[in-house]
Amino acid sequence: MDDMEKSLFALLRWYQAAGIGHYFATGDRVEMPVKESASQGGSDKARLLEAVREELGDCKRCPLWKTRRHIVFGEGSPEAKVMFVGEAPGEEEDKQGRPFVGMAGQLLTRLIEEVGWRREEVYIANVLKCRPPGNRNPKEEEIEACSPFLLKQIDVIKPKIICALGTFSAQLLLGKKLPISRIRGRVLVGWKGYRIFPTYHPAYLLRNPKQKTVALNDFRLLKRLVEDEA
Ligand code: URA
Repeated sequence: MDDMEKSLFALLRWYQAAGIGHYFATGDRVEMPVKESASQGGSDKARLLEAVREELGDCKRCPLWKTRRHIVFGEGSPEAKVMFVGEAPGEEEDKQGRPFVGMAGQLLTRLIEEVGWRREEVYIANVLKCRPPGNRNPKEEEIEACSPFLLKQIDVIKPKIICALGTFSAQLLLGKKLPISRIRGRVLVGWKGYRIFPTYHPAYLLRNPKQKTVALNDFRLLKRLVEDEA
């Protein structure tokens, strides 16, 4: 496929994901596309997420592709009311192609379940979709190349609140560099007006177990905010 065909194909996939499945061309006129009815099954959000995944493709937009084993796109319910956004995949995530499945991930899952959610009903993603070698911090240019895809995922899911796990996620979603210890446990207005709720990153909690109670209380408040009880 040449570049032109690739672009056309990507555009058609976008239409398809948006539920537009038919086009009419008569003579030299192209009619308005026909939107498929909602009754044709499948969730629009799921299809739109698939389109974002297709657009990401076998990404080589930054050098992290050279050392990754898997792209970690994100997982969970496309209809999620809450999204959790971490920093970047670690070793286990890179191996499995799934977010937050290592030690920090197990702690995140416990916190999610402790407040009464199931992991499958939330959505979990990261600022970066590929593992930085040795789990080093993400670089500016990597965030710049990768984060548009996270933002597209957010804009498809449209969660009521986004829980930013740690500094990198909070900085991206708030567009400001603020210490996580100062902003955690509060609702702030971030990118495109989304409500951002920063809290400690689970990897930080593994290194600082005394802060786990603080984080659990943040998760309890988050649950009440999402369920409109706070
Ligand atoms: N840390 C993150 O920020 N994300 C993961 O997916 C795993 C560990």
